[in-house]
Amino acid sequence: MSGSAQQTHRGAAHWRAAARTVQPRCDAFVDGAFVPSALGDRFATVNPATGEVLAKVAAGAAEDVDRAVAAARRAFADGRWSERAPADRKAVLLRLADLVRERAEELALLDSLDAGKLIADTTAIDVPGSAAILQWYAEGVDKVYGEIAPTGPDDLALVSREPLGVIGAVVPWNYPLETAVWKLAPALAAGNSVVLKPAEESPLSALRLAELAAEAGLPDGVLNVVPGTGPVAGQALGRHPDVDVLAFTGSTAVGKLFQRYAGESNMKQVWLECGGKSANVVFPDAADLDAVADGVVAGIFNNQGQVCSANSRLLVHRSVKDDLLARVVDRAAALRPGDPLDPATRLGPLVSEEHAARVQEYVELGRREGRAVLDGGLVAGAPTGAYLAPAVFDEVAPDSRLAREEVFGPVLAVFPFETEDEAVALANDSVYGLAASVWTDSLRRAHRTARRLRAGTVSVNTVDALDVTTPFGGFGQSGNGRDLSLHALQNYTALKTTWVNHR
Ligand code: NAD
Repeated sequence: MSGSAQQTHRGAAHWRAAARTVQPRCDAFVDGAFVPSALGDRFATVNPATGEVLAKVAAGAAEDVDRAVAAARRAFADGRWSERAPADRKAVLLRLADLVRERAEELALLDSLDAGKLIADTTAIDVPGSAAILQWYAEGVDKVYGEIAPTGPDDLALVSREPLGVIGAVVPWNYPLETAVWKLAPALAAGNSVVLKPAEESPLSALRLAELAAEAGLPDGVLNVVPGTGPVAGQALGRHPDVDVLAFTGSTAVGKLFQRYAGESNMKQVWLECGGKSANVVFPDAADLDAVADGVVAGIFNNQGQVCSANSRLLVHRSVKDDLLARVVDRAAALRPGDPLDPATRLGPLVSEEHAARVQEYVELGRREGRAVLDGGLVAGAPTGAYLAPAVFDEVAPDSRLAREEVFGPVLAVFPFETEDEAVALANDSVYGLAASVWTDSLRRAHRTARRLRAGTVSVNTVDALDVTTPFGGFGQSGNGRDLSLHALQNYTALKTTWVNHR
């Protein structure tokens, strides 16, 4: 039985006891070793479920980013990883995938404690998903071939993919380990060196992963982790003149800053995976309204709504709206926020009290501007101010802030429509374009609307479909990059043409 399968059978008492034994790594990981920050500064990372300080983590500044980038550059330049045969890189990354599985319980706990994520999710999704992604890119990288161009008979033009050099990766807190692995796995598989800056809310799993990578045989300097705040460590990486690619997952506002940093420094390539305001479109010919209601609830309330592709807008045909909403409200009201270390809990705290307070502002907006069919909001008497109950607002004006802005919390805005054209226009009426769902029993309507929806991923009769084999990313201000699948290798490699003249 795999580690993750065993863990799902463990109860809250096991996880609470295990949490007391976790020993977080608190320093930056640079050139193969843990080191304090150059200035000696630290920041506290807090468990939002309890308010306890988990660790005081090294706060990286520009000096620390410089050190990490220099180590990454040395490692890239001397070929200790970049010039290894793809099959050798595969062996190291497969060992790392195995180590992630062996340490699954510890890694799952680190993300649950640091970000308030449900242990049911970190054991079933985040950690096994991360191991699977490492394995997939490891297995893929020695099966990627170059090309011979169809030139004239006297020439040979070879087209190859070369690693780009030093990759800066800046990631968010909602899937701390997994969003890091989305960048690291293809970047390392392709032969690059990496400097990773995890979110300040959730740096612990990335630090442990770097240590496991060293144990797996990744040479010193190839993977460096510099924790720190966005405006300091994140900005220093974004502006660094010796970083070749900046791969970012996070908010659209910060994504735009990275484009500016690149333009004002060395024109590094910037790949962005940003926010969303994804639509769930329910047509009246979707016969199984219970299945739709399950999908709607999962689509907005999984991970407390802190999912980039969360279906935060429900577009539903007026003829089935009230029936569907009654089923959604039944299910959502049963999601009572609780201890994330209890595997039976279906809704945990948000990542921090500050973030919960921001989401609460949208709840109050919804109460003023919409019709609350489920009131939701801050939970009185909860252990901290990070717990929010699910909220559902009907008749939200399409031009209101609740309709247009990413909330990133358990808040659903509902919009009725009459025609297919109106539904598509409403769904596409957003600066974002990350994901969309369509519910219909008509195959023809499913294909027609999927084609017309301006979203990187369209799920038909399901929500949030995702796999390592398929590209994930957005249209519009949801970003320009694609994570996952072999297409992600394009973010971390450059095409090179080598001409050989035979005359
Ligand atoms: P965020 O943009 O605030 O932070 C993301 C990262 O950027 C963090 O590491 C942070 O420290 C850093 N950062 C913040 N300010 C910075 C600055 N001024 N300069 C440089 N770096 C800075 O996002 P978040 O709150 O951590 O995460 C939530 C956001 O992430 C949501 O918008 C969500 O949609 C998005 N997200 C997108 C995807 C995707 O694949 N498209 C996946 C997960 C999350």
